[in-house]
Amino acid sequence: LMELTKKLLEIQTILKTMQQSGDDGSNGSSSALQLPSIVVVGSQSSGKSSVLEAIVGQEFLPKGNNMVTRRPIELTLINTPDSDEEYGAFPQLGMDHVGDFRQIQRTLYDLNMSVSDAECVSDKPIELRIYSPHVPDLRLVDLPGYIQVVNRKQPPELRQKIRDLCEGYLKQPNIILAVCAADVDLANSEALKASRRNDPLGMRTIGVITKIDTTAPAAATSILTQNDYPLHLGYIGVVCRPVRETPGRDVMLSEAQYFGRHPEFRQPGLQVGVGTLRRKLVRVLEDSMRRSLSNLTDAVRSELEETKYQIKVHYNDERVSPESYMAESLDALKQRFKTFQTQFGKPQLRAEVQHWLESRVMDVCAELYWSDPAVVALSTRVTRSRAAGWWADIRTRAAQAAQAATGVISEILAADTAKEQRGPRLGGKPTGISGESAGGSRGNTSGGQGTAPVAREWSDVDDAYWDHQLDRAAALLTKSGVGRWTTQLVVDLLMDNVTSMVDAEPFIHHPDTRTAVLNFSHAILRSKYHSTVDQVENTIKPFKYEVEVEPHEWKKAQKRSGTLVDNEIRLCRQALVKLRTNVPRKQLQQAIQLARTAEKRGIDPVSIHAELIRRNAEQAAETEGAGNAEHEGATLEPQTTSDELSYAQHSPRMLRRAQQVLMIQDRLNILHMRRKALASTSCASPDNKRLCPEIFLDVVAEKLSYNAVLFINYELLQDFFFQFPRELDSNLYYGKTLQQTREFASQNPRVGKQLQLLERRQKLEVVMTRLQELMRQQAQQASSEPYG
Ligand code: GDP
Repeated sequence: LMELTKKLLEIQTILKTMQQSGDDGSNGSSSALQLPSIVVVGSQSSGKSSVLEAIVGQEFLPKGNNMVTRRPIELTLINTPDSDEEYGAFPQLGMDHVGDFRQIQRTLYDLNMSVSDAECVSDKPIELRIYSPHVPDLRLVDLPGYIQVVNRKQPPELRQKIRDLCEGYLKQPNIILAVCAADVDLANSEALKASRRNDPLGMRTIGVITKIDTTAPAAATSILTQNDYPLHLGYIGVVCRPVRETPGRDVMLSEAQYFGRHPEFRQPGLQVGVGTLRRKLVRVLEDSMRRSLSNLTDAVRSELEETKYQIKVHYNDERVSPESYMAESLDALKQRFKTFQTQFGKPQLRAEVQHWLESRVMDVCAELYWSDPAVVALSTRVTRSRAAGWWADIRTRAAQAAQAATGVISEILAADTAKEQRGPRLGGKPTGISGESAGGSRGNTSGGQGTAPVAREWSDVDDAYWDHQLDRAAALLTKSGVGRWTTQLVVDLLMDNVTSMVDAEPFIHHPDTRTAVLNFSHAILRSKYHSTVDQVENTIKPFKYEVEVEPHEWKKAQKRSGTLVDNEIRLCRQALVKLRTNVPRKQLQQAIQLARTAEKRGIDPVSIHAELIRRNAEQAAETEGAGNAEHEGATLEPQTTSDELSYAQHSPRMLRRAQQVLMIQDRLNILHMRRKALASTSCASPDNKRLCPEIFLDVVAEKLSYNAVLFINYELLQDFFFQFPRELDSNLYYGKTLQQTREFASQNPRVGKQLQLLERRQKLEVVMTRLQELMRQQAQQASSEPYG
C-alpha cells in the first residue's frame, strides 16, 4: 500500500504553513498548491454533522439551534495505526494535543461563536486535525448549512452569504459530499443544487442520503437508485443514529442491524452504510489526489523556481538565519562600542571636562567682570574711582538694559547652532552657575576708549577690591557643584554615544532592544553616579580654599585664555551678523542711532514707542468724539518732541534689535580690551593675578578638570566600559528562545522577508523531493499493474 493520501496530506500540511507565512501578497499562485478536499454541503438539519461524526467515530461537533457552524472547519483526519490514542489538534491555536473530545467540541463552539450574530458567517477557516487509529486519512471541510429562510435575528443577506462562502469550496479539484435527508424531496435539496452549479456532469459529487430510517425501505431504495439527478459516484444511504426496532419499544438497532433487517437494501449495486461511505471517500479522494499529483508537482516546481529567483534578485543568495542575524546585530553593537571605547579615553575625557569648565570660566568672567563698567579700570590700570567718574552717567543707564549681553548673545546664537556655542556640548547645561546675578548691568566703553589715561593713583583699596572679586570668581567656579556637573556631563556624553549606537541600523528596527540597551546603560551609570560625584567633590575640596599657581601653569593658561577670549569675540561677531541679516540696513542704522541717544538721555525707546501709540489713539478718539474745530490744529500734544516722533517711525522689534546690537558692540569693546590686557606684560606672571582673572580662573579650571577626570575615569568610565559588553550579553543574548530570536529577526522587514523566502524555499524543496518520490512510485505502480 502506498498511502498516497496520507503522504499528500502531510505535504499539504507543509504547504499550509507556508501559505500562512507567505500571505503578504508576494505570490498569487498559492491556490495552485491546493490538494483536493472533501467538502460537505447540505441544508441545516440535513444530518451533515451526524455524517461527519459517524465518519470520525467521535462526537466532536458543536450542536445547537443557533447556527453553530459559522466558519468552515477544515478537518484533517490522520490515521495512526501504531497508536491507540485518539486526539485532536488546533494548529492555529497552538493546541497540539487535545485528548478530550468534549473539549474539542467546546473549542469549536467558541471559535464559531467568535463570529458575531450580526455577521453570522465568516470565511476564516478553523483548522482541526484528528489523529486516531480508527480514522482513514482524509481531508474534509464542514461548511455552514444552507438555510431556507432567515429568522428575525439574522441578517437578510445571510442566505446569500452562506451560498457565497460554500461556492468557494465547491470548485475543482474538491470532491463534493452532498448531504440530503431522505425525508426531504431531492428536488428541493440545496446540496444537489450547489453540486449542479459547480459540477454539472456530476463527476466529483457523492450523494449522501441521511435518515434512511425515516422512510420505508422501499421508498429509500428508490431514492438511492433514482436517475433524476445522476451522479457518477452514486448515492450512499446512511443511518447515523440508533433506530428504534419498533415504535414504543426500547430495543435500539445500529445502522448495520437496521440495514440487515431489511432485505430491500441487499439489492445489487445499492450503496449503504457509513462504512461504505468511508471506503468510498478514501478511494475517491485517493483517485483525486493521484490525478492532482502531477499538477501539484508542476505548481510546486514553478513556485520553487520563483522563490529561488526572488532570493537571488533581492538578496543575492545571502545566507541568513534568525540566530546569525541576531548574533551579527549584537556583534555590530559591540564593535561600535569597542570603537567608541578606543576613541574615548582619558585624554578625550579630559578635553571634554576642561572644555566644559572653561565655558564656566567665561560665564563667571562675564558675570563678575565683563558686565562691570569698572573692568575698564582693571584693563587700563586706573583707579576705579576715576573710571567710575567717566562711567557715572553710563552706569545708571546701563542698569536699564533689559538683558545682560551674555544672555543676548547666547539667545541669538542658540537659535541655529546650539552645539557651536561655547558651553557644554551636552544637555543639562547649568545657566548662571552662581545663582546670584551680577546686576545685569551692561558695560559701555564708548566713553573711555581712546582716551584711556595712563595708570596712576592705583591704591591698596583697588587691590583689595580686585582681590575680593577674584576670590568671588574662584568660589563661583569651585563651589558650584563641580562634582555633580562634571559627572553628569560624562554620563550624558556616554548616554549620547550609546544612543547614537542604537539609533542606527539595524536597531532602528528593534525598538525593544534599543530600549533594553539604553536601560541597562542607565542602570550601570546610575549605580556609579553618587559615588563618583562624591569622589570628585572630595578631590577638589582643597581648591575651594586656595589655589597655588606655578609660573609654568600660568604661562599655559595665559595662552589658553587668549584663545578663549578670541572665541568669545568670534561669538559676539556671529551674533552681530545674525542681528543684521534680513533687516534693512538703513533702518537698523537709524534705530541704533536712536537707541544710543535714548540711552544717553536715560530713556527706553521701546516704552516711548508704546506711549506714543497710546497718546495718538487717545487723541484720535477725542477729535472724533468732539468734532470740534477748536481742536483741529492740535494733532500733536505740545510736549511731543521731534525725537519722540522719530521713535514712532520704528517698530519696537527694530528698536530692541538696535539695543541688542549696542550691547554686543559694548561687549566686543570690552573683550578686545581684555584681550590686549591678557597679552600684556602685566599679565605675564601670577603675581598680578588680580588683574588677569581670565588667566587665573583658567588655571583653576585646569586643576579642577585634572583631578575630576582622575576619578571620573576610574570610577565611572572604566567601569562602564567593563560592564557594558557583559550586560549586553546577559540582557540580549543569553537565554533567548528560538521563538524570541525569530521575532527579533522579523522585526527587521528586510530580514523578515528574507527569512520567509528562505523558509519557503526550504519547505518547497522538501515538498518537491517528496512529490518526486511519489511520482516515481506512481510510475512504477502503473507499469506493474497496467489496468490498476
Ligand atoms: P446538520 O444540521 O445538518 O448538521 O444536522 P444534524 O447532524 O445536527 O442532524 C439534524 C437532526 O437530524 C438531529 O436531530 C439528528 O439527531 C437527526 N438525525 C441525524 N441523522 C439521523 C438519522 O440517520 N436518522 C434520524 N432519524 N435522525 C437523524
